[in-house]
Amino acid sequence: MLEVSGLDVRYGRTHAVKNATISVGEGEIVTVLGANGAGKTSLLRALQGAVRPASGRIVFDGKDLTGASPSARVRAGMMLVPEGRQIFVSMTVHENLQMGVYLRSDRDAARDIEAIYDRFPNLAERRDMKASVLSGGEQQMLAIGRALVGRPRLMMLDEPSLGLSPLFVSRLFDLIVELNQSGIGILLVEQNTTMALEVAARGYVLELGSIVLEDTAESLARNPTLTEAYLGGH
Ligand code: ATP
Repeated sequence: MLEVSGLDVRYGRTHAVKNATISVGEGEIVTVLGANGAGKTSLLRALQGAVRPASGRIVFDGKDLTGASPSARVRAGMMLVPEGRQIFVSMTVHENLQMGVYLRSDRDAARDIEAIYDRFPNLAERRDMKASVLSGGEQQMLAIGRALVGRPRLMMLDEPSLGLSPLFVSRLFDLIVELNQSGIGILLVEQNTTMALEVAARGYVLELGSIVLEDTAESLARNPTLTEAYLGGH
């Protein structure tokens, strides 16, 4: 579904992503792991269209989207749930969800928002409240809900578990699996290596902008280099 080849992201003299080649198959969960500053967010921002790659190709569903605008990518079905959620805190829960459908012209948008409320009763109860009153976990659900109403085929999540309580972390990973079972491909950037490898089929490890490891999630979870570097030796 997503084929990225030879992607480079540069900020002036910083070479944040170097010759990255990754793919996400139809309905697959793929994780990208790496330490702070490894280039994970830069990779996602290039996929979203927020930064223009210095070189490389981004093909989604057979269409070359390398030079496409962020909104064209959203229309094609690629949605990013950014790091730190980036919901609109001064707007209500409902207004935030409406932002997720602004690119859609069809009449099912209202129904899709209702489906989000069915899935997340906490959001339904707070639909007319400012998003700022939500807990961190609820804000993450809202950010995912906002992406979902755009009917993604591929959801890219940038460190969604960051700052969440253990209870919300496990609910979040259950949700990721559920979304995937409903047919959405997932590209998951995480620092929570253990959880990410539990839900993913495959994974890539980024180090200083380069992909240094690529394997099934099962093998990565048993890889001694990775376990020492990111799993605290467990
Ligand atoms: P984190 O987990 O902290 O978000 P990351 O793996 O997502 O880290 P990036 O944020 O992609 O890493 O950063 C990769 C490199 O690019 C770092 O050296 C960072 O300082 C640099 N960088 C990121 N954004 C910019 C920018 N807008 N301008 C200049 N340098 C940047």
